[in-house]
Amino acid sequence: MPDWDCQACGACCATFRVSFYWAEADDAPGGTVPVALTQPVSPTLRCMVGTAAKPVRCVALEGELGRHVACSIHPRRSSTCREVQVGDEQCRKARAQHGLPV
Ligand code: SF4
Ligand code: SF4
Repeated sequence: MPDWDCQACGACCATFRVSFYWAEADDAPGGTVPVALTQPVSPTLRCMVGTAAKPVRCVALEGELGRHVACSIHPRRSSTCREVQVGDEQCRKARAQHGLPV
């Protein structure tokens, strides 16, 4: 597994539509993702604002991509965000799209 530093990357937060079951938003009991940072995708899905159309950049991503970034809602991010792992297919695809070493 590569030792890429996510805080010096952020590519996966600026490549894909970040969608998840609507009840992960905090207007549902037990939901954590701030609903104001999301938008509807379908009756059962929401996504992070900024990721529904290109150019993609999640509204919660702070900083300069590829240099120094942070997720402003890190402890409250969705299961979709948590699933991406350093070095996996999604990660490599995102980094390649942003010209970062893979
Ligand atoms: S693309 Fe990979 S290295 Fe970059 S922030 Fe996402 S998981 Fe971390
Ligand atoms: S919520 Fe955070 S981890 Fe998820 S895509 Fe946005 S910036 Fe990245």
